[in-house]
Amino acid sequence: MSDNPLRVAVVGSGPAGFYAAGALLDADVPIEVDMIERLPTPWGLVRLGVAPDHPKLKSVSRAFERIALKPGFRFFGNVEVGRDLSHGDLVELYDAVIYAFGAQTDKRLGIPGEDLQGSWSATEFVAWYNGHPDYQNLHFDLNVDRAVVIGNGNVALDVARMLALTPEELAPTDTTDPAIEAIGASTIKEILIVGRRGPAQASWTTQELKEMGELAGADIAVDPAELELEAESEAALEHDTNARRNMEVLRDFAARAPTGKSVTLRFLFFHSPVALHGDGKVEAIEVVRNRLENQDGRLVAVPTDEHETLECGLVFRSVGYRGVGLPDVPFDERRGTILNENGRIVGQERAYCAGWIKRGPTGIIGTNKKDASETVALLLEDVHAGRLTHRKDVTAAAVEAVLAERDARAVLYAGWTSIDETERAAGEKLGRPRVKLRSWNDLLEAAERVAARTA
Ligand code: NAP
Repeated sequence: MSDNPLRVAVVGSGPAGFYAAGALLDADVPIEVDMIERLPTPWGLVRLGVAPDHPKLKSVSRAFERIALKPGFRFFGNVEVGRDLSHGDLVELYDAVIYAFGAQTDKRLGIPGEDLQGSWSATEFVAWYNGHPDYQNLHFDLNVDRAVVIGNGNVALDVARMLALTPEELAPTDTTDPAIEAIGASTIKEILIVGRRGPAQASWTTQELKEMGELAGADIAVDPAELELEAESEAALEHDTNARRNMEVLRDFAARAPTGKSVTLRFLFFHSPVALHGDGKVEAIEVVRNRLENQDGRLVAVPTDEHETLECGLVFRSVGYRGVGLPDVPFDERRGTILNENGRIVGQERAYCAGWIKRGPTGIIGTNKKDASETVALLLEDVHAGRLTHRKDVTAAAVEAVLAERDARAVLYAGWTSIDETERAAGEKLGRPRVKLRSWNDLLEAAERVAARTA
C-alpha cells in the first residue's frame, strides 16, 4: 500500500457495500476500505434475505470473499453507525464514507387490522427463516388453512414458495431448524397471492415465477379469465419482455388441472386488501376489486365498490421494503432514501451512498454492481478534481482507538471466518451448506474463538 492511501468507510456489507469496496480497491489511486456492519456477519440480504432454496443466488458471496481478501480491506462487524459511531465520527475518522446499508424496514399497508396477531411483514418472515439474530424470538403459527401473501414482487413469491416447500425440499438448505420444523408441520392448504394490479403489471422475474409451478408439494392455480388483458396492458407487453414471458408462464399455469398435492398456490389479481378482521388474531381478509386506470402514463389500481371477505389465518404483507435514515444525513422521506444525486449525498462533503439506500429497493443483486460503481466513479472524480484528499490524521489506528474507547466488541474478518467455519462444519455433517448460528451470543462467541486461538 502507498504511504498515503485515501481511507474510505463503507457502511453496510451487502451486495452494494461489497461492490463499492471492490471498485474502491481496484481504483487507480491507492485506497483502503473499512467495511462497517451492524451484524457480526457480512453479505446483507445474500445471507439473510435470499431464499435458502436459491443457493445459486447465494453463491455471489464467493465474489465478496475475493474482495475481502484484497489488500487494504478490513471488516468491522458488530459496529453500528448510530450507536458506536455517528455520521460526524465517520467523516472525521475517514476521508470519505459510502453508506450502503440497504432498506431496513417494510412499507405498511395502512389498513385496519394490520397489526393483528397472524399479520406479518414479509421482512419478518424472511429474516426469521434465514436466521437473522434479531428475529429468532418470533413465533409463526402455520397451523391454519389459508395464508394470504399481499404483493406481486419476487419477495412475495419467496414467501409463498417457502411456505409451500416440503421437508425434503427444505432439508438440503440452510433454512433454520425452527423454520424447517414449523414449515414441515404446517397445515396450510391454500396460499393465496394477491396483486393489486393485473398479471401484466406484476414485478416478478420470469425464472422466479416459473419455479412456482415446479414445487413437489404444491399445485398451482390461476383463473384464465384474469389473464384476459384489456387493450392497454396487452399493448404494453410489446415493449416488456419480462411481462410477456410472465404471461406465457401464467397461461401454462392456468391450463393445468390440480394433481391432488396437499397445498394449492393460487393467484388473485386486481384486488387490494382493505381490512384484516378477527378477534385478537387474523381470521379473514377483506379485499376490494380494482380496475386499472391510466394516470400520467402509468396503469394504476383504482378500487371499485365490489368487496369480498376471505377466511384466512395468516397474512404476509410483501409490498416492498423501505429505507431508514441516519441522524445528520439528509433523507428523502417520500422515497425512503438518503437525499443524493447519483450517489453524492446532497449538501455534504465526502459522503456518498450506494444500493437500496441510494435508489430505493429495486433490482436484483447484480444491479448493485453498476449502482456501486457509479457512486465510486463519482468519488474518484472528486479525488481527481482535488475535492477529496487524504488528511494526515486519518489513520487505521485512529479508528481502532475510538472503537476501543467505546467498548465496541468489533468482529473482524477473522472473526467472521470463524463463524463461517463453525456453521459450514455443522452443515457438512447433515449435507447442508451450513447450519446458521442464530443468536447474538452464539455468533459473538464463535467470532471470539478465533481471537482466543490466536492470542
Ligand atoms: P417489488 O418488486 O417492488 O414488489 C412490491 C409489490 O407490492 C408490487 O407488486 C406492488 O404493486 C405491491 N404493492 C405495493 N404497495 C401495495 C399496496 N399498498 N397494496 C397492495 N400491493 C402493493 O418489491 P419486493 O418483492 O419487495 O422486492 C424487492 C426487490 O428485490 C425487487 O427488485 C425484487 O426483484 C428483488 N428480489 C429479487 C429476488 C430474486 O431475484 N430471486 C428475490 C427477492 C427479491 P404495484 O406494482 O402495483 O406497485
